[in-house]
Amino acid sequence: MTPAGSKSPKPAARRAPKKRSPEQVARAWARQLDTKRPGLVAFVLDRLADANGRPAWQRRLDPTSELVLTILSQNSADTNAEAAFASLRAAYPSAPAPAGAFLEPRSFAGWGGRGLPDLPPPDWSAVDAAPIGELIDVIRPGGLAPQKAPRIQAALRALLANGGGYSLEFLAGMPALEARDWLAAIPGIGKKTASVVLLFSFGLPLMPVDRHVHRVSSRIGLIPSKADADAAHDYYLAMLGPEQMYETHVSLITHGRRTCHAQRPDCEHCPLAPRCRYFDPKAE
Ligand code: SF4
Repeated sequence: MTPAGSKSPKPAARRAPKKRSPEQVARAWARQLDTKRPGLVAFVLDRLADANGRPAWQRRLDPTSELVLTILSQNSADTNAEAAFASLRAAYPSAPAPAGAFLEPRSFAGWGGRGLPDLPPPDWSAVDAAPIGELIDVIRPGGLAPQKAPRIQAALRALLANGGGYSLEFLAGMPALEARDWLAAIPGIGKKTASVVLLFSFGLPLMPVDRHVHRVSSRIGLIPSKADADAAHDYYLAMLGPEQMYETHVSLITHGRRTCHAQRPDCEHCPLAPRCRYFDPKAE
């Protein structure tokens, strides 16, 4: 008992639990998934490979074109981004089409447009020097041109300031996360855009999470239901082996486009249904 008149001793101050970093949270999730739903990633990849084939990495564009095309596709349909990129090539040509160039649109795995003809990239110095109003008009077919034109010029100027002209090839020699941070430091370029460029241009082990990947992943329960697309990048880095990232990205995008639509997913014909938490909330 506390003697009358004396103050009761103060309770010992509780130490606030140390906040975990997003990477630690993601690693804990990956361990938990492994224990509670073992083999889920392999199941998803194998079933999607049976349905759509197993995608193999190949470079689709030079890295600077990849970066600009990815900026053009931000919040726009891939077909519109293609139209804007074709318009850039036409307005600022760097060279005539080489003899024997493949002029039919060539599409890429995981890409939702018709594809682009195999032509030289735009003249990046002319794109960089273009008056902003003119550049906005050139890329208008892609949508959101007033936001994207300054982003493209900011990206080109960041490359130029780096001392290697407009080339991004130097990123190939960097560790993946360092390269992602370098790109993401450019205004208007986030984790997703940076990861797309590095994965598709160099095969660096990064997992871009776009709206299709995010939707499918949340429904299956590969990522926590409350994780946003930005956080999902960390979950995937913790969950996947480096050799799984390209395949996972392309397979989930393709599945999101063909079957797991935003509105009315076709669960009846989905090979992932037996282990999908959207289809069966108790699925293991
Ligand atoms: S079962 Fe339905 S919700 Fe789940 S992945 Fe397949 S289509 Fe999407």
